[in-house]
Amino acid sequence: MKRKSGVSRRDFLKTGALAGAAAVSGGGALTASVVSASEKSKRRRKRGSLVLVNGRIHTMDDRGSVVSAVAIRGGRFVEVGHGARDVDNARVIDLRGRTVVPGLIESHTHFVSLANRPGYHVAQWELASNVAGVLAALAARRARRDVPAGAFITAMGAGTPNIWLERRQPTLAELDTAVSDRPVFLYFGGGGPARVNSLGKAFFESVTNPTVTVQADGAILGGNPNQANAALYHLRIRQTFEDKKRSARDAMAFTAQVGVTTNFDQTLVALNSATQPLDPQPNHALFNLDHYRMYDAYLALHAEGKAFTRLQINFLHNQGYTPELVRPGQAPPDIDAQLPELRERLKNQFQFFGDDMVRTGAIGEWAAPFAAPTNPNGYAVWLEAQRLCAKARWRNENSQAGGYFPIDPNSPPGTLAVPNTVNIQQVVDTYKAMEAEFGIKELRWGLQHADHATVEQLTALKVLNCGVSTSGFRWTSAPRVDGQPVGPLFPRLVQSGIPLALHQDGVHITAHNPWFALHYATTGLNNIVSATSPQGQQINPGQQISRQQAMHMYTRGAAWFCNREDDLGQITEGYLADLVVLDKDYFRVSDAEMRAIRPILTVVDGKVVHDTGVLGGGRDDDDDDDDDDDDDDGGGRGKGRR
Ligand SMILES: [Zn+2]
Repeated sequence: MKRKSGVSRRDFLKTGALAGAAAVSGGGALTASVVSASEKSKRRRKRGSLVLVNGRIHTMDDRGSVVSAVAIRGGRFVEVGHGARDVDNARVIDLRGRTVVPGLIESHTHFVSLANRPGYHVAQWELASNVAGVLAALAARRARRDVPAGAFITAMGAGTPNIWLERRQPTLAELDTAVSDRPVFLYFGGGGPARVNSLGKAFFESVTNPTVTVQADGAILGGNPNQANAALYHLRIRQTFEDKKRSARDAMAFTAQVGVTTNFDQTLVALNSATQPLDPQPNHALFNLDHYRMYDAYLALHAEGKAFTRLQINFLHNQGYTPELVRPGQAPPDIDAQLPELRERLKNQFQFFGDDMVRTGAIGEWAAPFAAPTNPNGYAVWLEAQRLCAKARWRNENSQAGGYFPIDPNSPPGTLAVPNTVNIQQVVDTYKAMEAEFGIKELRWGLQHADHATVEQLTALKVLNCGVSTSGFRWTSAPRVDGQPVGPLFPRLVQSGIPLALHQDGVHITAHNPWFALHYATTGLNNIVSATSPQGQQINPGQQISRQQAMHMYTRGAAWFCNREDDLGQITEGYLADLVVLDKDYFRVSDAEMRAIRPILTVVDGKVVHDTGVLGGGRDDDDDDDDDDDDDDGGGRGKGRR
């Protein structure tokens, strides 16, 4: 069994996470309780053994091996092959021929935002294909009977009308039918609008400072002033730390449910802390959170041994040219006074620090807002941000998709156009300049999205040892009028040989569920269905890749992107034991069935963390909440723990 990470989980618990928890509470009671919880969880952490047999286990190793059995001990795969049994007192699960893949790695998500949602949050609304499905998900949340009287059932972010068949919001009357005795609040996308049921309407009509305007039909409008954000504010200021911990656990349960076992978080559209308050404000959108403190509840759970999916934390910095920072007598942009937050980050934060479950990443998805040379002050600040990262020997990312120029600027959107990769070229040229000045090849810089990158651009990035994580989330787009592909240009990306990952970029503008992206990359179909296109419309003609290639991007490619290819992304002896047992054979089912695949069993760190019960095993023993099970040897969470 190999151990490559420099810091053991136990050491991390003693140092980093506890320091973080103390900072949360300002010391005192919480610190003491975290210490005692940590001691307790340490005694329980003797991890159990697990053997899976009779499966079609796609290892994603170099030979493309498909095996029938794996054995897991101490959180790692110890045997991969046929008939693995060499583990004492192991729990044995008969897979009954099911298909297994490595735990999926989401290389571009805003997952920690999901872990901060106020209310009893229903992330599952993004899995609904129509309004009835949304209502069923809300009703199912209520049916768990754990939402106290007066507490909100909420669903925010990823569920936007364009992911549902009807392409509309549920109505107030429909929401009342789904949940009549608890207030319901839906907030669509990253910036609203919102919609409530009758009890939700009554609540928001009662609040002051600021007041919230609710339309007769339960709509709470976005726009300016954004009433949906004012409503969100009233829920956020009522959230307790325990509420946030519950929300973080719900987010982990959801990601395990859809098969993503590692989340590489890209922060949010961070506030410019030189000019803006970080506490909740009535004008903050869903994608605004205090980007220093939004990890606190998650880290507290981790310190208690209750974090059960993996998290890697990138830091996004959103300070562009800030006129307020120009010092008296200095000429704009006064570059030495700009980017104060990024400068402090690079001085005071450790990159890739933590343990196997929670660790930092580096800078992403950007170090400063992108600005072209036509915006001289903005460009100077963006360029300086690249230089600061290179000089500090940090990993860095930029986020550019490319697209199309209209040939005639007066033509309607989507009409005949030529490829526009100007912004990607600016990134490539700058990375080359950073290599020349500082050397960045060992740092694995990244480009997010890259949908329309040219062969030359990809070749140049590959030479610089950069990686790409591309957009799998375009499947709600309409076809282009000129018939050109919406993108990404998947075959070109694959053929370039560049380290390549696929992402959904959830949880504000799009869904978190990776099977939507895998379906899109392999079919090019959107979700606009009709009698003439019952499976959706072809919006990415000629740009499909194989299922094996797409799965590689969500496992090994993403592991490289996380700097974790020696530990994650394969079912191979010595690797961390993350895997997903699927309800259908991803490699063989029809396209339509493949889009609807869900895990029936998810294992992270050798523990069952999601179990629909199909294999009859039920969940592992719990290792949390109760105080008298110190000899517990299991530690999973399964059915009923969400
Ligand atoms: Zn993003």
